Amino acid sequence: MSPLETDASYNRPMASSSSAADLFVLPSGEFEPAYLALSRSGELRRRAAEALERLRHCLVCPRDCGVDRIADKTAACHTGRYAQVSTYFPHFGEENCLRGWRGSGTIFFSMCNLRCVFCQNYDISQAQRGSETSPQRLAEIMLELQAVGCHNINFVTPEHVVPQVIESVAIAADRGLRLPLVYNTSAYDSLDSLQLLDGVVDIYMPDFKFWDSEPSLRYVKAKDYPEAARRSIREMHRQTGVLKCDELGLAKRGVLVRHLVMPGEIAGTESIMRFLASEVSRDTYINVMSQYRPAGRVSEGQFAEINRRIGSKEYDRALEAARRAGLWRIEIQRPPCP
Ligand code: SF4
Repeated sequence: MSPLETDASYNRPMASSSSAADLFVLPSGEFEPAYLALSRSGELRRRAAEALERLRHCLVCPRDCGVDRIADKTAACHTGRYAQVSTYFPHFGEENCLRGWRGSGTIFFSMCNLRCVFCQNYDISQAQRGSETSPQRLAEIMLELQAVGCHNINFVTPEHVVPQVIESVAIAADRGLRLPLVYNTSAYDSLDSLQLLDGVVDIYMPDFKFWDSEPSLRYVKAKDYPEAARRSIREMHRQTGVLKCDELGLAKRGVLVRHLVMPGEIAGTESIMRFLASEVSRDTYINVMSQYRPAGRVSEGQFAEINRRIGSKEYDRALEAARRAGLWRIEIQRPPCP
Protein backbone atom coordinates (compact mmCIF):
# COMPACT_ATOMS: atom_id res chain seq x y z
CA MET A 1 0.00 0.00 0.00
CA SER A 2 2.68 2.50 0.84
CA PRO A 3 4.27 4.14 -2.17
CA LEU A 4 7.64 2.63 -1.51
CA GLU A 5 10.44 3.80 -3.70
CA THR A 6 13.07 1.19 -4.35
CA ASP A 7 16.11 1.46 -6.49
CA ALA A 8 18.17 -1.55 -7.54
CA SER A 9 21.16 0.65 -8.35
CA TYR A 10 21.66 1.06 -4.62
CA ASN A 11 22.00 -2.70 -4.21
CA ARG A 12 18.93 -3.10 -2.10
CA PRO A 13 16.35 -5.84 -2.59
CA MET A 14 13.28 -4.73 -4.51
CA ALA A 15 10.06 -4.68 -2.49
CA SER A 16 8.41 -6.75 -5.22
CA SER A 17 10.82 -9.62 -4.54
CA SER A 18 8.82 -11.93 -2.31
CA SER A 19 11.76 -13.05 -0.17
CA ALA A 20 12.87 -9.47 0.49
CA ALA A 21 9.32 -8.23 1.01
CA ASP A 22 8.73 -11.03 3.55
CA LEU A 23 11.39 -9.48 5.76
CA PHE A 24 9.07 -6.55 6.31
CA VAL A 25 5.79 -8.42 6.73
CA LEU A 26 4.38 -9.32 10.10
CA PRO A 27 1.36 -11.54 9.42
CA SER A 28 -1.67 -10.34 11.35
CA GLY A 29 -2.06 -13.82 12.88
CA GLU A 30 1.36 -13.43 14.49
CA PHE A 31 0.82 -9.93 15.83
CA GLU A 32 -0.26 -8.95 19.30
CA PRO A 33 0.18 -5.38 20.59
CA ALA A 34 3.27 -5.25 22.75
CA TYR A 35 1.57 -3.88 25.86
CA LEU A 36 -0.77 -6.86 26.27
CA ALA A 37 1.98 -9.15 27.56
CA LEU A 38 3.01 -6.47 30.08
CA SER A 39 -0.61 -6.03 31.05
CA ARG A 40 -1.12 -9.76 31.70
CA SER A 41 1.99 -10.00 33.86
CA GLY A 42 1.11 -6.90 35.91
CA GLU A 43 4.27 -5.17 34.68
CA LEU A 44 2.30 -2.44 32.91
CA ARG A 45 0.71 -1.26 36.19
CA ARG A 46 4.10 -1.38 37.91
CA ARG A 47 5.65 0.55 35.00
CA ALA A 48 2.89 3.19 35.21
CA ALA A 49 3.52 3.66 38.93
CA GLU A 50 7.26 4.01 38.33
CA ALA A 51 6.68 6.49 35.51
CA LEU A 52 4.35 8.62 37.63
CA GLU A 53 7.00 8.80 40.38
CA ARG A 54 9.28 10.46 37.82
CA LEU A 55 6.87 13.41 37.72
CA ARG A 56 7.82 14.37 41.27
CA HIS A 57 11.09 15.83 40.03
CA CYS A 58 10.39 15.95 36.35
CA LEU A 59 13.16 14.69 34.12
CA VAL A 60 10.65 13.18 31.72
CA CYS A 61 12.23 14.89 28.70
CA PRO A 62 15.68 16.32 27.99
CA ARG A 63 14.70 19.75 29.37
CA ASP A 64 15.30 18.32 32.89
CA CYS A 65 13.16 20.99 34.59
CA GLY A 66 12.99 19.19 37.94
CA VAL A 67 9.56 20.53 38.96
CA ASP A 68 7.01 18.54 40.97
CA ARG A 69 4.29 17.83 38.44
CA ILE A 70 2.40 15.56 40.84
CA ALA A 71 1.82 18.78 42.80
CA ASP A 72 0.72 20.31 39.48
CA LYS A 73 3.75 22.55 39.15
CA THR A 74 4.60 23.33 35.53
CA ALA A 75 7.67 24.36 33.60
CA ALA A 76 8.74 24.38 29.95
CA CYS A 77 5.92 22.14 28.69
CA HIS A 78 3.19 23.96 30.68
CA THR A 79 1.73 20.60 31.69
CA GLY A 80 1.23 19.44 35.26
CA ARG A 81 -0.19 16.20 36.66
CA TYR A 82 -2.66 15.56 33.84
CA ALA A 83 -2.18 15.42 30.10
CA GLN A 84 -4.08 17.99 28.09
CA VAL A 85 -5.86 16.63 25.05
CA SER A 86 -6.51 19.12 22.28
CA THR A 87 -8.55 16.86 20.00
CA TYR A 88 -8.88 13.28 18.81
CA PHE A 89 -10.33 11.67 15.69
CA PRO A 90 -9.73 9.07 12.97
CA HIS A 91 -7.00 10.76 10.92
CA PHE A 92 -6.83 10.18 7.17
CA GLY A 93 -3.83 12.42 6.54
CA GLU A 94 -1.18 10.15 8.02
CA GLU A 95 1.00 7.70 6.07
CA ASN A 96 -0.92 5.05 4.11
CA CYS A 97 0.34 2.31 6.42
CA LEU A 98 -1.21 4.12 9.41
CA ARG A 99 -4.41 5.56 7.99
CA GLY A 100 -5.41 2.44 6.01
CA TRP A 101 -9.08 2.79 5.09
CA ARG A 102 -10.57 3.52 8.53
CA GLY A 103 -8.09 6.09 9.78
CA SER A 104 -5.40 6.36 12.41
CA GLY A 105 -6.87 6.94 15.88
CA THR A 106 -5.03 10.17 16.54
CA ILE A 107 -4.90 11.86 19.94
CA PHE A 108 -3.31 15.33 19.88
CA PHE A 109 -1.78 16.43 23.16
CA SER A 110 -1.58 20.14 23.84
CA MET A 111 1.70 21.86 24.61
CA CYS A 112 5.13 20.60 23.70
CA ASN A 113 8.66 20.47 25.02
CA LEU A 114 10.08 22.11 21.88
CA ARG A 115 9.47 25.66 20.65
CA CYS A 116 9.55 25.27 16.89
CA VAL A 117 9.22 28.76 15.44
CA PHE A 118 7.67 27.23 12.31
CA CYS A 119 5.36 24.79 14.13
CA GLN A 120 2.74 23.52 11.70
CA ASN A 121 0.37 22.96 14.67
CA TYR A 122 1.23 26.16 16.52
CA ASP A 123 -2.21 26.63 18.11
CA ILE A 124 -2.12 23.18 19.69
CA SER A 125 1.51 23.00 20.70
CA GLN A 126 2.23 26.47 22.01
CA ALA A 127 -0.74 28.79 22.01
CA GLN A 128 -3.86 27.13 23.43
CA ARG A 129 -4.38 24.86 26.36
CA GLY A 130 -6.36 21.66 25.81
CA SER A 131 -8.64 19.92 28.29
CA GLU A 132 -6.97 18.37 31.30
CA THR A 133 -7.76 14.70 30.87
CA SER A 134 -7.84 12.06 33.58
CA PRO A 135 -6.20 8.70 32.87
CA GLN A 136 -9.65 7.08 32.88
CA ARG A 137 -10.90 9.54 30.24
CA LEU A 138 -7.79 9.09 28.12
CA ALA A 139 -8.37 5.32 28.23
CA GLU A 140 -12.00 5.89 27.16
CA ILE A 141 -10.82 8.00 24.22
CA MET A 142 -8.61 5.12 23.04
CA LEU A 143 -11.53 2.71 23.31
CA GLU A 144 -13.81 5.12 21.40
CA LEU A 145 -11.27 5.30 18.57
CA GLN A 146 -11.04 1.51 18.57
CA ALA A 147 -14.85 1.23 18.51
CA VAL A 148 -15.12 3.37 15.37
CA GLY A 149 -12.68 1.07 13.58
CA CYS A 150 -9.35 2.94 13.67
CA HIS A 151 -6.33 0.80 12.86
CA ASN A 152 -4.11 2.10 15.65
CA ILE A 153 -3.86 4.63 18.48
CA ASN A 154 -1.58 7.47 17.47
CA PHE A 155 -0.25 9.69 20.30
CA VAL A 156 0.86 13.02 18.83
CA THR A 157 3.43 15.09 20.77
CA PRO A 158 3.57 12.73 23.76
CA GLU A 159 7.17 13.42 24.92
CA HIS A 160 6.10 15.42 27.99
CA VAL A 161 3.25 13.07 29.01
CA VAL A 162 4.87 9.64 28.84
CA PRO A 163 3.86 8.72 32.44
CA GLN A 164 0.25 9.75 31.78
CA VAL A 165 0.21 7.73 28.55
CA ILE A 166 1.48 4.56 30.25
CA GLU A 167 -1.01 5.03 33.10
CA SER A 168 -3.88 5.32 30.61
CA VAL A 169 -2.77 2.43 28.42
CA ALA A 170 -2.75 0.18 31.52
CA ILE A 171 -6.41 1.06 32.13
CA ALA A 172 -7.39 0.76 28.46
CA ALA A 173 -5.69 -2.63 28.10
CA ASP A 174 -7.72 -3.97 31.04
CA ARG A 175 -10.87 -2.67 29.36
CA GLY A 176 -10.21 -4.31 25.99
CA LEU A 177 -7.83 -2.12 23.97
CA ARG A 178 -6.23 -4.29 21.27
CA LEU A 179 -4.82 -1.79 18.75
CA PRO A 180 -1.13 -1.14 18.09
CA LEU A 181 0.21 2.04 19.70
CA VAL A 182 2.02 4.69 17.65
CA TYR A 183 4.37 7.06 19.49
CA ASN A 184 4.43 10.10 17.19
CA THR A 185 7.27 12.24 18.51
CA SER A 186 9.67 15.07 17.72
CA ALA A 187 12.40 12.68 18.98
CA TYR A 188 13.22 15.16 21.74
CA ASP A 189 12.77 12.32 24.23
CA SER A 190 14.75 11.22 27.25
CA LEU A 191 16.31 7.78 27.29
CA ASP A 192 14.61 7.14 30.62
CA SER A 193 11.17 7.75 29.14
CA LEU A 194 11.88 5.56 26.16
CA GLN A 195 13.02 2.75 28.43
CA LEU A 196 9.73 2.99 30.31
CA LEU A 197 7.99 2.61 26.95
CA ASP A 198 9.97 -0.50 26.03
CA GLY A 199 7.40 -3.24 25.41
CA VAL A 200 4.53 -0.73 25.51
CA VAL A 201 4.86 1.01 22.14
CA ASP A 202 4.53 -0.94 18.89
CA ILE A 203 5.38 1.75 16.33
CA TYR A 204 7.75 4.63 16.92
CA MET A 205 7.31 7.55 14.54
CA PRO A 206 10.05 10.09 15.31
CA ASP A 207 10.80 13.24 13.36
CA PHE A 208 14.43 13.97 12.69
CA LYS A 209 14.30 17.76 12.28
CA PHE A 210 17.86 19.12 12.40
CA TRP A 211 21.31 17.62 12.30
CA ASP A 212 23.25 20.55 13.79
CA SER A 213 22.90 22.31 17.11
CA GLU A 214 23.02 25.86 15.74
CA PRO A 215 19.81 25.67 13.67
CA SER A 216 18.26 23.61 16.46
CA LEU A 217 18.80 26.45 18.89
CA ARG A 218 17.52 29.03 16.44
CA TYR A 219 14.45 27.19 15.18
CA VAL A 220 13.34 24.77 17.92
CA LYS A 221 15.01 26.38 20.96
CA ALA A 222 16.91 23.24 21.95
CA LYS A 223 20.61 23.18 21.22
CA ASP A 224 20.81 19.53 22.26
CA TYR A 225 18.03 18.43 19.91
CA PRO A 226 20.29 16.62 17.39
CA GLU A 227 22.06 14.63 20.10
CA ALA A 228 18.74 13.71 21.73
CA ALA A 229 17.22 12.70 18.39
CA ARG A 230 20.17 10.48 17.48
CA ARG A 231 20.09 8.79 20.89
CA SER A 232 16.30 8.38 20.79
CA ILE A 233 16.10 6.93 17.29
CA ARG A 234 18.84 4.41 18.08
CA GLU A 235 16.90 3.32 21.17
CA MET A 236 13.58 3.12 19.29
CA HIS A 237 15.23 0.92 16.69
CA ARG A 238 16.79 -1.25 19.39
CA GLN A 239 13.36 -1.82 20.90
CA THR A 240 11.24 -2.42 17.81
CA GLY A 241 13.49 -2.77 14.73
CA VAL A 242 12.63 -1.72 11.21
CA LEU A 243 9.01 -1.09 10.25
CA LYS A 244 6.91 -4.16 9.54
CA CYS A 245 3.39 -4.21 8.14
CA ASP A 246 0.76 -6.94 7.87
CA GLU A 247 -0.40 -8.53 4.61
CA LEU A 248 -2.73 -5.56 4.01
CA GLY A 249 0.04 -3.01 4.39
CA LEU A 250 -0.96 -1.76 7.84
CA ALA A 251 1.97 -0.88 10.10
CA LYS A 252 2.32 -3.20 13.08
CA ARG A 253 5.77 -2.78 14.58
CA GLY A 254 8.98 -0.84 14.12
CA VAL A 255 10.31 2.62 13.40
CA LEU A 256 9.02 5.06 10.79
CA VAL A 257 11.12 8.23 10.58
CA ARG A 258 9.75 11.52 9.28
CA HIS A 259 11.94 14.23 7.87
CA LEU A 260 10.50 17.62 6.94
CA VAL A 261 12.49 19.17 4.10
CA MET A 262 13.22 22.79 5.00
CA PRO A 263 13.93 25.83 2.79
CA GLY A 264 17.60 26.41 2.07
CA GLU A 265 18.55 22.89 3.23
CA ILE A 266 18.98 24.15 6.78
CA ALA A 267 17.91 20.81 8.28
CA GLY A 268 21.11 18.97 7.35
CA THR A 269 19.18 16.39 5.33
CA GLU A 270 22.26 14.71 3.88
CA SER A 271 23.80 14.03 7.31
CA ILE A 272 20.48 12.80 8.69
CA MET A 273 20.09 10.31 5.84
CA ARG A 274 23.66 9.08 6.26
CA PHE A 275 23.09 8.59 9.99
CA LEU A 276 19.88 6.61 9.42
CA ALA A 277 21.46 4.37 6.81
CA SER A 278 24.76 3.75 8.56
CA GLU A 279 23.93 3.89 12.27
CA VAL A 280 20.33 2.67 12.33
CA SER A 281 19.58 0.54 9.27
CA ARG A 282 19.51 0.91 5.50
CA ASP A 283 16.06 -0.69 5.78
CA THR A 284 14.76 2.22 7.85
CA TYR A 285 11.40 3.41 6.53
CA ILE A 286 11.48 7.15 5.93
CA ASN A 287 8.83 9.65 4.95
CA VAL A 288 10.50 12.58 3.18
CA MET A 289 7.96 15.31 3.80
CA SER A 290 7.36 18.23 1.47
CA GLN A 291 4.60 20.13 3.25
CA TYR A 292 6.66 22.76 5.04
CA ARG A 293 4.85 26.08 4.99
CA PRO A 294 5.53 29.26 6.92
CA ALA A 295 3.54 29.01 10.15
CA GLY A 296 3.77 30.03 13.80
CA ARG A 297 6.27 32.83 14.41
CA VAL A 298 7.62 32.55 10.88
CA SER A 299 4.30 33.59 9.40
CA GLU A 300 4.31 36.59 11.73
CA GLY A 301 7.25 37.95 9.72
CA GLN A 302 10.26 36.74 11.67
CA PHE A 303 12.88 34.29 10.34
CA ALA A 304 12.70 35.63 6.78
CA GLU A 305 15.08 32.94 5.48
CA ILE A 306 12.45 30.25 6.02
CA ASN A 307 9.40 32.34 5.20
CA ARG A 308 8.59 30.42 2.01
CA ARG A 309 7.65 26.93 0.88
CA ILE A 310 10.29 24.58 -0.50
CA GLY A 311 10.92 24.21 -4.21
CA SER A 312 10.72 20.94 -6.10
CA LYS A 313 14.50 21.01 -6.68
CA GLU A 314 15.08 21.20 -2.93
CA TYR A 315 12.76 18.25 -2.47
CA ASP A 316 14.50 16.25 -5.20
CA ARG A 317 17.87 16.93 -3.57
CA ALA A 318 16.53 15.56 -0.29
CA LEU A 319 15.31 12.40 -2.02
CA GLU A 320 18.62 12.02 -3.77
CA ALA A 321 20.43 12.35 -0.42
CA ALA A 322 18.30 9.52 0.97
CA ARG A 323 19.00 7.26 -1.99
CA ARG A 324 22.69 8.08 -2.04
CA ALA A 325 22.94 7.15 1.64
CA GLY A 326 21.47 3.75 0.77
CA LEU A 327 17.94 4.16 2.11
CA TRP A 328 15.28 2.64 -0.12
CA ARG A 329 12.04 2.41 1.87
CA ILE A 330 11.14 5.99 1.05
CA GLU A 331 7.67 7.50 1.18
CA ILE A 332 7.49 10.35 -1.29
CA GLN A 333 5.19 13.38 -1.23
CA ARG A 334 5.51 15.52 -4.30
CA PRO A 335 5.70 19.16 -3.21
CA PRO A 336 2.93 21.51 -4.29
CA CYS A 337 5.52 24.04 -5.32
CA PRO A 338 7.61 25.16 -8.32
S1 SF4 B 1 8.37 17.01 30.54
FE1 SF4 B 1 7.94 19.22 30.82
S2 SF4 B 1 8.44 19.69 32.97
FE2 SF4 B 1 9.31 17.66 32.49
S3 SF4 B 1 11.43 18.07 31.89
FE3 SF4 B 1 10.24 18.09 30.00
S4 SF4 B 1 9.60 20.20 29.65
FE4 SF4 B 1 10.30 20.04 31.78
